[in-house]
This record gives sequence, C-alpha cells and structure tokens, in this order.
Amino acid sequence: MTTGTPRDPSSVDNPASDVAAIEIRDLHKSFGDNEVLKGIDLLVRPGEVVCVVGPSGSGKSTLLRTVNLLEQPTSGSIRIEGTDILDEDVDIDRIRTRIGMVFQQFNLFPHMTVLRNLTVAQERVLRRPKKESQEVARAMLERVGLAEKATDHPGHLSGGQQQRVAIARSLCMNPDMMLFDEPTSALDPELVGEVLEVMQDLASSGMTMMVVTHEMGFAREVGDRLIFMDDGVIVEEGDPAEVLANPRHQRTQAFLSKVL
Ligand code: ADP
Ligand code: MG
Repeated sequence: MTTGTPRDPSSVDNPASDVAAIEIRDLHKSFGDNEVLKGIDLLVRPGEVVCVVGPSGSGKSTLLRTVNLLEQPTSGSIRIEGTDILDEDVDIDRIRTRIGMVFQQFNLFPHMTVLRNLTVAQERVLRRPKKESQEVARAMLERVGLAEKATDHPGHLSGGQQQRVAIARSLCMNPDMMLFDEPTSALDPELVGEVLEVMQDLASSGMTMMVVTHEMGFAREVGDRLIFMDDGVIVEEGDPAEVLANPRHQRTQAFLSKVL
C-alpha cells in the first residue's frame, strides 16, 4: 500500500467522514525563549498514515505531544475530529481516549501481568466491566500475535514483544487514531520488523496514524504522506516515495543523505 487507504464505501454519505481527524493551524510552541514549533499547518484525513521525519531536536515529539495536549501550545489551533481542543469547555480527557499514543519507551507496568496492563485503563477510564475488558484485551493480544503471553510479566518479554503489548494496550481503548513517537528506536535491530509489521496491519485496517520514525522503508511502503520537519517548521511534504527519491529542499536532501 503506497497511496490511499482503502475506505469503507458506506461511509461516503456520512458527513462525519469529511471532517479531518487532525487539523492543526499555525501552531506555535515555545519553551521559555526557545521556540520549538514555528507555525505548523497540518491536516490528517481519516484513515491516513502520515509519517514525520527530521533531525533530532526539530520538534517532532513536541508536535505529536501537542495533538493530545501533553504539551500546551503557545498559539494556534488544534481540532480533533472537528472539536477545538483548546476550547476551555472541552473535556480533554474524553478527547484523549480517542487518541492512542505509543512511545519509544513502552511504559508498561512491570508489576502487572500483560493482561492486567491491558485491562486496567479499560476498567478505570472506560468503566468497562472486568470480563469484557479481559475479552477485549485477549482479542488485541491475538491481533499483535501475543495471545500466549497474557499471564507473563513485561520483564519476561523481548523489547519487540513489549512494544507490541503497548500497541495492543492502546487498541483496547478503541482509539480513532494512533500517534507513534519513534516506536522502534529503542529496539535491537532484529526486533524492529515485528513491530513495524503490527503497525502495517493497523494501517491496512484503516487506522488514522501519525508516525514519527527513522524507518524510511516503512514510510515509503506504509505512509500515505511523508512530512520532513526541521527547526520547528514543515520543510516539505508529499508522497513518501516521491519525497525520498526527489527531495526538493536542500535541508531534506542533507537529512536524507545521512539516513538513507
Ligand atoms: P525531536 O522529537 O524532533 O527530537 P523535540 O520535540 O523533542 O524534538 O524537541 C525540540 C526542542 O524542544 C529541543 O530543543 C528540546 O530541547 C526542546 N524541548 C522539548 N521538550 C521540552 C521541555 N519539556 N522543556 C524544555 N524544552 C523542551
Ligand atoms: Mg523526539
């Protein structure tokens, strides 16, 4: 899958499907005197997979974190499925349940079994009954190929398996979209593929995804769009294969020449 994500034809008449999953306008973010995001405009359509690449310190993580207000923007606007999340009256906790987030560090609870890691937020945040939470958890473990690890503790799993558990844990909340911040950067090289494969499956299922990654193969194969960020701005964006083969901007060329 290189361009376009298969979409449910029955949703064509549904006006909600015209609403952007994520709509960011003129987003600025400063930490003290350090302006880290310098006017970002970004529209992510439902079902779209947007990969974000760029040098360390360019603002990729900060951009992702502002999408669910883990960072408060300095100015600009952010709409999630049409809702202005900077509106004081918005229940941001409710919006956050619509957005799954997966980090470089898996952040699993080490003292809980894999299954309990997957049920705890379902029970506490979604108020799902225990039995139903366990059923959902088992289904999601199956989906990431780890059904047999339900009763293990995270410390007994490989890094790749732990990251797959972290993805399954996010999926248990039925998110409308998933944000990945360098999900394979902490992994030994031989474990990267199994995580990317799970993400590819997720993309094929129509999940809306923003993925900060250094995996250019993934961006090319799975991404609908590639965004190159440098120094707090989007320098260029486009079809991943196109941008990777023919970067127009000198800064993109310089970056790609180091990573490809
Ligand atoms: P990237 O993910 O592209 O490596 P980041 O978004 O993590 O970049 O960081 C961009 C810049 O913002 C860096 O200069 C970093 O030091 C700064 N920064 C990020 N988070 C914070 C924070 N919580 N407080 C102060 N500065 C921060
Ligand atoms: Mg980062």
